[in-house]
Amino acid sequence: MKEHVTVCEVGPRDGLQMAKSIMPTAVKARWIAAIAAAGVKEIEVGSFVPPKLIPQMADTEEIVRGALAIPGLTVFALVPNLKGAQRAYAAGAHGIEVPVSVSEGHSRANTNKSTEEQVEEVGRIVAWLGAQDRKVRVEAGCATSFGCSIEGDVPVSRVVRVASALADAGADAIVLADTVGYGHPDQVHTLVRAVRGAIGEKLTKLHLHDTMGLGLANALAGLEEGIRSFDSALAGLGGCPFAPGASGNIVTEDLVFMLESMGFDTGIDLDKLIAARLLLHEGVPNEPLHGQVPKAGIPRTYRAAA
Ligand code: ZN
Repeated sequence: MKEHVTVCEVGPRDGLQMAKSIMPTAVKARWIAAIAAAGVKEIEVGSFVPPKLIPQMADTEEIVRGALAIPGLTVFALVPNLKGAQRAYAAGAHGIEVPVSVSEGHSRANTNKSTEEQVEEVGRIVAWLGAQDRKVRVEAGCATSFGCSIEGDVPVSRVVRVASALADAGADAIVLADTVGYGHPDQVHTLVRAVRGAIGEKLTKLHLHDTMGLGLANALAGLEEGIRSFDSALAGLGGCPFAPGASGNIVTEDLVFMLESMGFDTGIDLDKLIAARLLLHEGVPNEPLHGQVPKAGIPRTYRAAA
């Protein structure tokens, strides 16, 4: 039995929110279906934020409903607050991702709340969802855990404090997010150990950006620490408004290539995954597509783990 690693595709949310044009809903639905058909089992399909703020996410209700029809797919959506969580529940999402910035400056800029207020919001979301008929998984993402474009250094002790507060607030899982992509492998080792020391296996996943070209190195450091779940975006789509030049999330195609080559089973067919780039290009033709493996082509030495 090969060890399994979960790859959660966040391109339809993290990637598209920075796109200059709006992907037509029908293309987005086909794109998500193509990613799922490649074997991806978790997709963050959009976010429940005010459409005026992020017009690319105005169709998230419809996109969630469509994605629910894909067999075996766990459908996630990002929500910034209780109202978003209620919309996600009504649409039928299996899970939600709630961002909580460890850095106060980024928290204010991102959600107009202090970190403590946003932790309390997670508590309200958990309480409200707990009173509903259907179970919805709540993942809390500690944004700017590895540094902040507004405040600079983010102390490890502060990340540990926020992660612990989120675990206490009842989140099912805690994610460490390198929102602006300033992290390096040593930092991943240190931070994962420190947070795990405080909350144990509730720390499940890393959300990494490739701003400095260290995304996969950071993922490898996470793997070495026992992390078995990663967010990534097809074609490394996106960027960050606070990090000029950022190339977005780590590239799903390159991540899968690394994992499978190392013997970790992702359940993902790399050929089909790369083919899904065509629909992405069709939907947002002006966005640059990143990724080394798609550009070079899958080498003849490649062996999938399974
Ligand atoms: Zn991100």
